[in-house]
Order: sequence, then structure tokens, then C-alpha cells
Amino acid sequence: MDKGRESLTDVRSKELFEAAKRHIPGGVNSPVRAFGSVGRTPRFIASAKGDRITDVDGNEMIDYVCSWGPGILGHAHPRVIEKVKEACGYGLTYGAPTEKEVCLAKLISELVPSMEVNRLVSSGTEAVMSAIRTARGYTKRDKIIKFKGCYHGHWDGLLVKAGSAALTTSVPDSAGVPADYTKHTLVALYNNKESVEKLFHENPKDIAAVIVEPVAANMGVVLPEPGFLGFLREITREYGALLIFDEVITGFRLALGGAQEYFGILPDLTTLGKIVGGGMPIGAYGGRREIMRMVSPDGPVYQAGTLSGNPIATTAGIETLLILKEDPLIYKRLEKKAERIAEAAREAAGGKACVNQIGSLLSVFFTEREVKDYEGAVSSDTARYAEYFGYLLERGIYTAPAQFEAMFLSDAHTDEDIEKTCRAIRQYFTS
Ligand SMILES: *Cc1c(COP(=O)(O)O)cnc(C)c1O
Repeated sequence: MDKGRESLTDVRSKELFEAAKRHIPGGVNSPVRAFGSVGRTPRFIASAKGDRITDVDGNEMIDYVCSWGPGILGHAHPRVIEKVKEACGYGLTYGAPTEKEVCLAKLISELVPSMEVNRLVSSGTEAVMSAIRTARGYTKRDKIIKFKGCYHGHWDGLLVKAGSAALTTSVPDSAGVPADYTKHTLVALYNNKESVEKLFHENPKDIAAVIVEPVAANMGVVLPEPGFLGFLREITREYGALLIFDEVITGFRLALGGAQEYFGILPDLTTLGKIVGGGMPIGAYGGRREIMRMVSPDGPVYQAGTLSGNPIATTAGIETLLILKEDPLIYKRLEKKAERIAEAAREAAGGKACVNQIGSLLSVFFTEREVKDYEGAVSSDTARYAEYFGYLLERGIYTAPAQFEAMFLSDAHTDEDIEKTCRAIRQYFTS
């Protein structure tokens, strides 16, 4: 056993995983949780507090998954928990309007002013599919452009990445998706203006919208090159298409006003998820009044939800956004922590890995290339990533169990835990 290694057992996790596999596909309710790409047994989590999660075998780990982003304040923030408990006393859901929905809608449009009018749904996937339907209803066009390597949830029409031979033939990425459902989805390359221009030249009057993660965070973290988002803003305007920023990860994370505030580029429609629910299921989509007027019951674009805007989730969302809003230094602190980890990894890796970081998001790619696009991201040696992941996990550091995901920082990460993490990363690269 090498020095500094903490021996963690996972007996109970293994038992539960076996039991889970009998009744749940792959034993999990979302595929990445199965630890498949790192070849390990997933840890079953029993509780979480601050920057730590504890599994069913009693292992306490420093958590850099943060539930894939919602946990920006850390786990079980006392103010959020207290408000949620209080809200539960008034009933869980009514299927009728509440004052809290007005409060959250106002808060969203105050913090993200381009979302003048917004609608709550229950997940990021729902927000995205509804925003696209709205864009199509508004422009009366069918086609959309998405980028290879950008993830927008599991809606049929977006489960596409182009075959490498022909960027314009969109092959579904999943079984069960009819090719007819993706035939209006065109695929461009992230950070590649020409690929977008080409699609607009070929389909000048047919493109309803371009949807993009303003910072790609689902192929690992890939930053937009200077001018790329501005270019998307201009070309969509020129052709009468809408620009949709999928800010499900970046919203309230890069800045209080999301990536659109951070980069100063305003989209026509925005989708939110993750942080906006403060750890409970909420998604939201919104934009200018004239566009959102299309949505039912104001307009002809149908969209509905039994639990949309339910009072418990809304309470968690409001309280989380209020805490972020009250603390003007939080984003600086988050960025500093991520920078410390990024610098430690960069120094220790010495050119053998590429570390991308922006705000409180970062990724370590095991490639000597600079990762600026999908091709760069997939050049990473995923077997090395699996080894790195395992090394950290055995030292009580819980990072994303897959290469093409981000590492998330929260305000609850302590200096001590960041230092412990930096030390383990240095040891990994130098051992
Ligand atoms: C997580 C994610 C989604 C999907 O959100 P769910 O709540 O998982 O449905 C959509 N877009 C982006 C950019 C995401 O990261």
C-alpha cells in the first residue's frame, strides 16, 4: 500500500449496487452514477454536509461533484434546509399558483435580465425542449443548430451528434429515437465559426435557433474562444434565428447573471436548471416578452407540468438565489479555489495534461493537446482519467466518475480541503 493511502471499504455500497441492479436499470437512476467509465462500484451516499459527502460504509469524502452543479453553497446549507422544512408544513403541492412562484420569477428576471418572462418546469431537459418549441413557434421555422459535444438533456431531438463524415446528417445518439425526430437538428462544431456559417448558408430561411452551452461543460470544461459567442449572436440576428444559451450549468455559477453576464452577450432565450432549484427539481426557460408570449395559455405553444413551480422546490430555489445575491464576493472566492486546484494540477502534470478552468468549473484532460473543442476533448486518455479518479477516491476525494464532466467547487469547500486536494493531485502526477 502506498504512503498516505486511506483504505476505504465499500462493502455496503457493493451490496446495495447488487440489489439496485435487480430493480433499476444498471442500478442507477442516471447513467453516469454507475461509475461505468471508471470501472468501479458506485458509492451509495447516506448524507452530505458542507463540502463533504458520507457513503453507506461511513467513508467521508470531499465532494467535487456537488450533485453535478446545484450544490454551489455546499450541502445542506442551514438557511435552505430551514426554509424547506418550514414550507413542508404548508403542504407539498397544490397544482395551483402560489406567491412563491411570483417571487422566483421576479428574482430570475432581476438576476438574468434577458429572462424578462420565464416559466418554471421540473428539470433542465424540460427547460431545453420547451425553449426549442417556443423558438420554433415564434420563428415558424423547424431546424435547429446544436454543437457536437454540447449536452442539453435527454430530449429526443437533441440526442444527436453528427457522424464524422457528414456534419449535416444527424444520426440519433440513442436507440429509440426515430431518425425523423432528429432530421431537423443540424450539428456544428464548438468554437468553429465556419461550421456554423456553412449551415446558415445552406439553410438560410429554415433555422429557428442555435442552442449552445456558453461554456461547454459536458465534454469536460471547454471555454468559448474570444469572439465565438459574439459571432453566434451576430449570425443568428442576421438570419432571423434565435440564440438560446443553455445555462443549466453556467446559470448562477459563472456569475450571478450566468455566462451571459460574464461574457456580456445576451441570448434571446435562456434555459436554467441545477442551481435554480437549490438542490430540488427545477428548470426554467425564458426570454423577451414578445417571444415568451407564444407560450400557452398566452399563445399557441403548448407546455405544462403537474409539479411545475411546486412550493417546496421553489422555496429551495429562492433561498439559494437570495444567499448568492446577498454575497457579492462569493464568485471571487469560488474562482480562487478552482484556480488553486487548476494551478496545482497544471504544475504537477507539466504538459502531460491539459487543465481547463473558468470560474468554479474545471477539468483535467489527459492529453498533451490544448483542449478547445470536441476533438481535443476526446483525445484525452480516459484510462488515465479512470486511474486518476481512483487515486483521488481512495484518498477521500470524490470527483466526477467520468472524463467528460466538470469538477464543481462550492462555497463550502474549506481552504484545508482544497489544500488536501491539491496535495493528492500533486502526488498523483509525481508518483
Ligand atoms: C444537466 C444539463 C441539462 C439537463 O438537465 P436535467 O435537469 O438533468 O434534465 C441540460 N443542459 C445542460 C447544459 C446540462 O448540464
